[in-house]
Amino acid sequence: MTNFQDYNFDEEILKALDKLGYQKPTSVQSELFPLLFSHQDAIVKSKTGSGKTAAFAIPIIQMLDWSVRTPQVLVLTPTRELALQVREEMFHIGRYKRLKVEPIYGQVSYKAQEKQLQQRTHIVVGTPGRVLDHIEQGTIDLSEIEYVVIDEADEMFAIGFEEQVNDILDSITTPYVMTLLSATLNQNIEQLCKRYMDNPTYIEVEQDS
Ligand code: ADP
Ligand code: MG
Repeated sequence: MTNFQDYNFDEEILKALDKLGYQKPTSVQSELFPLLFSHQDAIVKSKTGSGKTAAFAIPIIQMLDWSVRTPQVLVLTPTRELALQVREEMFHIGRYKRLKVEPIYGQVSYKAQEKQLQQRTHIVVGTPGRVLDHIEQGTIDLSEIEYVVIDEADEMFAIGFEEQVNDILDSITTPYVMTLLSATLNQNIEQLCKRYMDNPTYIEVEQDS
């Protein structure tokens, strides 16, 4: 499908995409949307700038249960900058839904984050170290998680977050759909996918749109 109108997105989401100036889905978006809508795990390899954030963000936001008050989505990013960037884009896509996205990363007040996490939160976007701190301290409720996204997996492993990512995934006891995105793939990433994904579909997109 080549238009956002071809999917059953709510008016609020179509309006937000229009405001963002997104006229039609990029290739990676039209490939990932149907997989997420049918709750399938996916490994996405495409180059920087191909629109991977919106590829997972749009369908996941469309599928949120707005009556649930604790996080339904956990997005892990290798850096604080990326966490903020993903948070920003998700915020814009969900702006007319009153979407609440909480960024969680280190070197800022733990207490303030703890307080935010007690408020209504739909999505947590964070770096592995601080997310794991909240899990270990019992200050994040992951009992409603339905979607897990590992963004920039190659960077994640390059930085050395492999063990923390494993520990985080091990601590989630609900069944969840997992999406992993990366510009490049390697054996470590494939091993993680093998361990945590259920028969994933592999998407590789070469050009932008
Ligand atoms: P990637 O994660 O693949 O590097 P991003 O998700 O950061 O790519 O997207 C790259 C840029 O493209 C961002 O500025 C984003 O706002 C923009 N973008 C994403 N989807 C679309 C779309 N469907 N139409 C136009 N621009 C888009
Ligand atoms: Mg990206």
